Amino acid sequence: MSDPVNATILRNGRIIDPANARDEVGDLLIVNGCVAKESASSGRQSPAEIDCTGLVIAPGLIDLHVHLREPGQSAKETIASGARAAAAGGFTSVVCMPNTQPAIDSPSVVSWVQEKAAAEACVNVFVAGAITKALAGEELAPIGSLKKAGVVALTDDGHCVQNHELMRRALEYARMFGLVVMDHCQDYNLVGKGVMHEGYWSTVLGLPGWPAAGEEIIVQRNILLAELCDTPVHCQHLSSAGSVRLLREARARGVPITGEVCPHHIALTDEAVRGFDTRFKMNPPLRSAEHVDALIGGIADGTITILASDHAPHSGFEKEVEFDQAPFGILGLETQLGLFLELLVHQHRAIDLPRLVQLYTENPAKLLGLNRGTLSVGAAADITIIDPHLAWTFDREASPSRSCNTPFHGWLLRGRAVRTIVAGETVWTL
Ligand SMILES: [Zn+2]
Repeated sequence: MSDPVNATILRNGRIIDPANARDEVGDLLIVNGCVAKESASSGRQSPAEIDCTGLVIAPGLIDLHVHLREPGQSAKETIASGARAAAAGGFTSVVCMPNTQPAIDSPSVVSWVQEKAAAEACVNVFVAGAITKALAGEELAPIGSLKKAGVVALTDDGHCVQNHELMRRALEYARMFGLVVMDHCQDYNLVGKGVMHEGYWSTVLGLPGWPAAGEEIIVQRNILLAELCDTPVHCQHLSSAGSVRLLREARARGVPITGEVCPHHIALTDEAVRGFDTRFKMNPPLRSAEHVDALIGGIADGTITILASDHAPHSGFEKEVEFDQAPFGILGLETQLGLFLELLVHQHRAIDLPRLVQLYTENPAKLLGLNRGTLSVGAAADITIIDPHLAWTFDREASPSRSCNTPFHGWLLRGRAVRTIVAGETVWTL
C-alpha cells in the first residue's frame, strides 16, 4: 500500500517563476505539500482542482521586513495576527524584526519566537536577530549563537549602529557565520529630532526636518564596510535619491550591497503631512517628488532588487497624539502588493509583472539563503495566486491586523492576491 496522496492541481494559470525563468500558461501540481512533476498524479485518484484562468500563479511572496511585535507588544500585533495579515496580502513568508521587548538578541528569544510561530502562524516566520545587545548599539549580540538558533539575518532595525568600528566587527562576524547584515540607515546626529523630510513642507509646517543626507551618509558607510569586509550588507527601506545613486555606483563596482524600497515611499510625498495626520509619519519619512522619482528609477533599472513593507503596527491611542510625539510606522502587509502593482506596473510601467514577482520571491530568498521563492519541482508548495487587474478598495476595518495605522484606508487599487497557499494548504482566500 502506498502512502496517502494529497494532491491539488492549479489549472490554466500564468505560471511566473523568475528563479527558473519561467513565464507560461499551464497547470501546477501540488502533491503532499510540495510542487510536483505533472506526471506524478497519473494513475492516482484525480487531484482537487483550482481554476486559475486569467490569474497568475507565483511562488509564495516573501516580505523580509516585518514587525510582528511579539514578544512584548501583543496589543499592537501578535505573531498569529501578523501572519494572518501577511496571508491576506499574499505573503507566505515573512522575516520578523528583532526590536521586540525583550529584543531578539539571544538564542532563547529566537526559540520563543520560532516555537510560537510554529504553533500559531499560518505563514512561515523567519527570524532576524539583533546586531547589538538590546539594539543599544554598544556591544555585539552573540552572533554565533544567534546563527545556531536559526536567525536568517542580523539587523538593529528601528535603530542604527552609529559606531562604525562596531559595525565593521559585526560584518566580520556575520561573514564568518554566513549571515547578511541588514541596516536601518540613520545618522542620529544629523537627523536629530527630525520627524518629517527636511524640505519645503517641514519649513511650512514648522516641524523638525529629517534630511535625506541622514540616510545617505549611513548608506555610504555601509558600502565602504561591505567593500572592506567583502560581505553583503542590505540597506532597509531606502527613501532618498542619493541612496539610490550611491547604491547604483557601488553595485556597478561589484560591492555586495543591496537595497529595498517600501510602497509608502513611492505612493506618497511629504506634502501628505500637511494635515499633521500621524498616519503619514514613518521612519525614514515620506520625501519629495524628486526622491519618489529616483526610487522608481532605481527599481526600474535594477539598482533596487527587493521590495518590502516595513509593516509596523501601532495602537490607535499611540498615534492619536501630536505629530512630533507619535511613533513612526504604518501597516503594510495587506496593501504592498496592490500598491506596487498599481504604481510600478500599471501606472508608471517601471517594471513588468515577472520582475515584480522576482523582487518579492527569488531576490529576497537568494539574499538570505531561504529555501523558498521558487516553483521548482520538489520545492515547498508556497504559492500566491494573483489577479493583477482586480480593482479593490482597502478597508482597514476588515484587516486581521490588531492595529489600523495605515494611510491607505479607502484607496482604490488594481491587483491583489486572491489565494495564498503555504505548503500546499490554502491559508487565505478572497
Ligand atoms: Zn527601520
